[in-house]
Amino acid sequence: MIRLAVPLVSALLFANISACETSSRAADAAPSALFEQAWNSGIDPHEAAFQVQAIDANTYVLRQSLRTSFEAPFLYLLFGTDKALLIDTGVEGVDLRAVIDRLIDQHAAAEGHSFSLVVMHTHGHGDHVGGDAGFEGRPDTVIVGHSVEDVSAFFGITDWPDGTGTLDLGGRTIEILPTPGHHPSHVMIFDAASHILFSGDAIYPGRLFFECGEAGEYATSIDRVATFAETHQIDWLLGGHVEMKAKPGQAFGQQGKLRRGEHVLELSASAITDVQAAFAGIGDYPRVTPFAEFMLLPHPADPQGKSPPDWCKPS
Ligand SMILES: [Zn+2]
Repeated sequence: MIRLAVPLVSALLFANISACETSSRAADAAPSALFEQAWNSGIDPHEAAFQVQAIDANTYVLRQSLRTSFEAPFLYLLFGTDKALLIDTGVEGVDLRAVIDRLIDQHAAAEGHSFSLVVMHTHGHGDHVGGDAGFEGRPDTVIVGHSVEDVSAFFGITDWPDGTGTLDLGGRTIEILPTPGHHPSHVMIFDAASHILFSGDAIYPGRLFFECGEAGEYATSIDRVATFAETHQIDWLLGGHVEMKAKPGQAFGQQGKLRRGEHVLELSASAITDVQAAFAGIGDYPRVTPFAEFMLLPHPADPQGKSPPDWCKPS
């Protein structure tokens, strides 16, 4: 999600957190196909600023604690044989740099050589770039800028948004897919080594937010991803947040900091066509619309949570 311009409406409509939360750490999370532990729920007052879980020896997932931000973004650290890649830096105010340095140092010790670091972002919203400053001046580190021009130049994308770019981490080449809609420079990152599509805030189990007038661009981006998926094996999508409950069609309150019974982070590849169909069905006047694993959240919406009849009406 984003940190600004957050409609209160969804909090009013979907806030449904029990007043009798307990200290259960697993917080009734649904079983995950990828992760041994449930993601921290914000219930434990001592939970770390970042929870780290490995998918494999070269792929780490970090969740920023709900106790530091209701956004609780997920960040990703990938290793090739030469480079490490950090996807997103979360919300400011916590020491991400120390956590990433520790993971890279451990990996370097195991591999017997150092790794350079590339810091990139799925998009430029504050909850995805907030930790950038901590990496400024870090040796052998590049921080990719946030604009379309910056992203295109770094990854060699010559025909944004129709083309793609690449980055070779050493024996592991990732592909960058422009996906504007939620944000002008939004990208997804496909990793052929793990068959994971890091889908940012364009597809994740939560509120798929877009400004009035951006629905068409968002939908076109998802169409391109669907075409890409026809020729690439995508096992899982991993996005920027979890805001849905395990119970289909229900979201947590917008700024709630306790998450009992959360949806798992991973989505199967069918989520791409589900989101594609959702956009195809909203017509010319998008409204706040829940689906089983996500909801469409056009902005602005009226206080009852539904967009007015003339919302986005062409003038
Ligand atoms: Zn976000």
